[in-house]
Amino acid sequence: MHSDSGREIRGIRPATTALGISHGRACPSLHVELQSVPMIEPIFPHTNDDVLIAGGGICGLVTALTLHQLGIPCRVFEAVERLRPLGVGINLQPNAVRELYDLGLDSTRLNTIGTQVREWALVGLNGNDIYAEPRGLLAGYNWPQYAVHRGALHMMLYQEVTQRLGADRMHTGYQAAGYETDTDGGVTLLVQTPDRGETQAVAGKLLLGADGIHSSIRAQMHPNQAPIHWGGTIMWRGVTRAPAIRTGSSFVGLGEENRRLVIYPISQPDADGLSLINWIAEIRTEDQSEWERTGWFSEVSVDRFMHHFESMKYDWLDVPSLLSQGSVAFENPMIDRDPVDTWRDGPVLLLGDAAHPMYPTGSNGASQAIIDARRLGALFLQHGVKPDALARFDTAYNTPVNQVVLRNRGDGPFGLLKIVEDRCGGHFEDIDAVIPSEERHAFMQGYQAAAGFARDSLNTAPPTLPPSPLIQMNARI
Ligand SMILES: Cc1cc2nc3c(=O)[nH]c(=O)nc-3n(C[C@H](O)[C@H](O)[C@H](O)COP(=O)(O)OP(=O)(O)OC[C@H]3O[C@@H](n4cnc5c(N)ncnc54)[C@H](O)[C@@H]3O)c2cc1C
Repeated sequence: MHSDSGREIRGIRPATTALGISHGRACPSLHVELQSVPMIEPIFPHTNDDVLIAGGGICGLVTALTLHQLGIPCRVFEAVERLRPLGVGINLQPNAVRELYDLGLDSTRLNTIGTQVREWALVGLNGNDIYAEPRGLLAGYNWPQYAVHRGALHMMLYQEVTQRLGADRMHTGYQAAGYETDTDGGVTLLVQTPDRGETQAVAGKLLLGADGIHSSIRAQMHPNQAPIHWGGTIMWRGVTRAPAIRTGSSFVGLGEENRRLVIYPISQPDADGLSLINWIAEIRTEDQSEWERTGWFSEVSVDRFMHHFESMKYDWLDVPSLLSQGSVAFENPMIDRDPVDTWRDGPVLLLGDAAHPMYPTGSNGASQAIIDARRLGALFLQHGVKPDALARFDTAYNTPVNQVVLRNRGDGPFGLLKIVEDRCGGHFEDIDAVIPSEERHAFMQGYQAAAGFARDSLNTAPPTLPPSPLIQMNARI
């Protein structure tokens, strides 16, 4: 049933009113004639008090759980109709694991979707170690580092959101198409159901754009932003059931600057001693057509890239065999976006990949998304659920996190491979003669400090949100 145009019903404003372009900004990503948007029976209750979250990925869902912990009503609008466990491996750094624990997702839960990382190692093309360090608890962090299946993590968060907030707070199949800041200080989000061509305008208190690297909210906030940035690296990702190498839970970067393999287990070993091994085979190419052909997760045959890695056979790892036994291989370019100097537009804030998509070289995209959610929660607690909290978030974190984005472009912690290549062409017997141990450690510590997971400062930092955030939030109100 269509609503009367010009009349607001239960929080849903007819699109002609909500996006009448009389105030706020027009939405460049919305290629529809607003006057003729078909209106449907509104399904969202009228409160205007809800914080609206565009995007139900890792960031959007952790944000929803955090707001729920604070007793702040919110709704998530996710473009995909039916969420599925997509992706392969991702790392959760100790700072992010701490936040998940504080959300009640402790090691018992995380052990079901991944495994605790014990070591991070860089190995040259000749198979000799360049650098190795313990990780997580073994490195003295109070919280482990986890390597998990992204899809399994996503599904766990989805289940938690529907259980804790209620399924009626999670709207799948609704694509955020644009927003308008309202004169009363609120915000209106326009959501579309692309398959049915229906559009609804949803009123809310604040809007959090957590809609990933291709964010519509960011596109509207920064209409002149540069196109996606690609530095020339193509990645093929996959998983193979195989025995885990080294410590049994080692993250290993192997090869040279322009051709490397990253492998790490993302499951506990099964009864046969086999784990799900995540692998990322990467090459750097100048061929622009590669970029044009690939997007997120196009599935390809291993034959397409095997020739780059055929020589990587060692007595401790047979790379061609590992790749060829993979159940699936996805091809995607390593992409990010040029940083923008603000993530905020009045009552609207970008979070996660929508704010700062980054190369996975530092293994911190998902961790940063989780940290964003928690930091914002802390600011709501201190300053209220108001645009002021968003402004403080932007002021405090835009510059430092943008620096991490740029640092990851410079190969992140894999930059050590380049230093070794520059100094000896990648051929060495004694790594100390090429780059002394102190220099290697100083390089890594510099990266860790910049990425926010330096051990001592994390261990001594108070929790981002206090143990009983709801009580404190209520006391504040
Ligand atoms: C399908 C998929 C698979 C991935 N696999 C990997 C992987 O294997 N390894 C890895 O390191 N990283 C992977 N990533 C990226 C990784 O999840 C993110 O870099 C990181 O977790 C930050 O999370 P995010 O929530 O900010 O972004 P994302 O995880 O990208 O989540 C964004 C969410 O927003 C939704 N969305 C997009 N546009 C709209 C819109 N207009 N309106 C509403 N919703 C919208 C998307 O469907 C998605 O659910 C993947 C991302 C996706 C979407």
